[in-house]
Amino acid sequence: MKRLPSYIHSSQGKLWLTEDERDNLKISYRIKDVLFEETSPFQHVMVLDSYDFGPMLVLDGVVQTTSMDGYIYNEMIAHVPMSIHPHPRNVLIIGGGDCGAAKEVAKYDCVELIDLVEIDEAVVRASKRYMPEVSGNLSDPRVQYHYEDGVKFAKQARNRYDVIIVDSSDPVGPAQQLFEIDFYRDLHSALKEDGMMVCQSQSPIFHQAVMLQTYEHIGELFTDRKLFTAVIPTYPGGLWSFTIGSKRALPEPNRIRFDKQASYANEEALRSCFSLPTFVQELLKRKETAPSAR
Ligand code: SAM
Repeated sequence: MKRLPSYIHSSQGKLWLTEDERDNLKISYRIKDVLFEETSPFQHVMVLDSYDFGPMLVLDGVVQTTSMDGYIYNEMIAHVPMSIHPHPRNVLIIGGGDCGAAKEVAKYDCVELIDLVEIDEAVVRASKRYMPEVSGNLSDPRVQYHYEDGVKFAKQARNRYDVIIVDSSDPVGPAQQLFEIDFYRDLHSALKEDGMMVCQSQSPIFHQAVMLQTYEHIGELFTDRKLFTAVIPTYPGGLWSFTIGSKRALPEPNRIRFDKQASYANEEALRSCFSLPTFVQELLKRKETAPSAR
């Protein structure tokens, strides 16, 4: 095996991936084997076969998705907007190179086009080859792959999409701009008059500033916006947030209908995900009442 990156180490004959979450928090996963490794122009891409989570996609040492729990995130980020929008035909996915979100969107017969804009082709290649539980080895003809920067792609799209899903990595490196208000403004322009967007907005436990900033930016640009959550075992702190912004008023959750085959999402889960824990409600309320810095 080639020289291992710093975040993989061997101890007493066992191989471990250690995620440097924060200054005082590291999370380690015992690894069986390195299935894929490539240094792309954007990041170090690995697929590691782990004992407890199966094959996992790791970008620059950060676990992105795993065969054991990737479906939770991919189903929620896709089915919340797709089950709310009355007639989603054109869908844009920015990021999402593991193809998990695209696999969920493809379950809707009404969808005619899925533009998947992933900056790093190596991620798609690795996910299709080594993570079929997540990617489904996606070969749906409606999926158009664009290996380019989602920030640039969004700038040239006008009034084109019914749903936009921002399935980004953490706000570092190429994903940093995917959390900025100029990008959300371009998404607003890329959406049709009744369009809606959703993005992963980080952890309500460990990344409250990013979550609140995303919530505020989307609130400034869209007619309606809501936060919803799901628990993703391999994400730091487990509890994860998503923010949906819509050019039209969002329906009451009890009006959501869902009839697709899924392992986590169902009609109750898609309705109850908008019921937020008290501490999250209080965080949002404080943000909404705080004099916004001008
Ligand atoms: N679906 C997984 C999850 O559960 O969070 C991870 C998301 S997916 C792997 C994140 C992708 O965003 C990565 O493949 C990364 O290459 C891509 N990405 C980061 N910045 C980007 C940009 N500016 N434009 C397009 N794709 C970008």
